[in-house]
Amino acid sequence: VTFNDDATLDTSQVSDQRGSFGGVPGGGFTVGGGGLGIVGVIIYLVVQTLGGGGGASGGAGTSNGVVSQQQIQQECRTGADANAKPECRVVATVNSVQQYWAGEVPKLGVRYSAAKSVLFTGQTQSGCGVASADTGPFYCPADKQAYFDVGFFDDLRTKFGAQGGPFAQEYVVAHEYGHHVQDLLGTEEQASRGDQQGPQSASVRLELQADCYAGVWANHATQTTGANGRPLLQPLSQQQIADALDAAAAVGDDRIQQETSGRVNQESWTHGSAQQRQQWFTTGYRSGDPRSCDTFSGSI
Ligand SMILES: [Zn+2]
Repeated sequence: VTFNDDATLDTSQVSDQRGSFGGVPGGGFTVGGGGLGIVGVIIYLVVQTLGGGGGASGGAGTSNGVVSQQQIQQECRTGADANAKPECRVVATVNSVQQYWAGEVPKLGVRYSAAKSVLFTGQTQSGCGVASADTGPFYCPADKQAYFDVGFFDDLRTKFGAQGGPFAQEYVVAHEYGHHVQDLLGTEEQASRGDQQGPQSASVRLELQADCYAGVWANHATQTTGANGRPLLQPLSQQQIADALDAAAAVGDDRIQQETSGRVNQESWTHGSAQQRQQWFTTGYRSGDPRSCDTFSGSI
């Protein structure tokens, strides 16, 4: 149990497109492309905009999509629902993460604008092109939305060998919103001009900063409140932090490479090693200060 049962949720921050976007014609967009397949692109920031069209977004509003949106409104009302169902846990975490950053980002000199999360199954159209469940969670700067296939949270356990647990899921959501904050601050745009692979690359630095921002949120998470003013989260336990660290390690580049090819090649890292990812989540969690997340200076 992580959420307070009686806190109420705001489902307007999540667009539910599960089951509403059947047959996207193939081609166009596979994040990460080629041989990487599912594992290369975990908790990704989609930098490239393929298939054009900036503001695509929530407009996939078929009648199915609308029905689905009503469904999530009815399904995900309270913290109790978030404790019971992964899709409602995304809603509750998005509420908490955005409430924290809406207060914090202005202190960094930038206005906070809210980012919606899109829940999908199978595949969906994003402002960065068509994404499939194999893509893994990602944030698309072109439409400023985060995308989650709820099935990924099972994959974390079954495919990546993480212990799982609700807080592992919350870490993944908070990581994607870390990319949204980077987008607002202009960090993401700067990093896109640097090296995209290697243990000290701009890509790895960007991903580790998103992990650090997830840790910063975790530090402040219990101060955030539901729509009815009740605290959204209960105090974090050691076990929950351990679950987040375990998930961060499970999606480390070295772990994934070891798992899929039996060897580790640092030069193709894009997200950082298990150790780096744990270290930067911990840095953010201990300090509670986004300014401690300077992954761009010195060696990481
Ligand atoms: Zn990422």
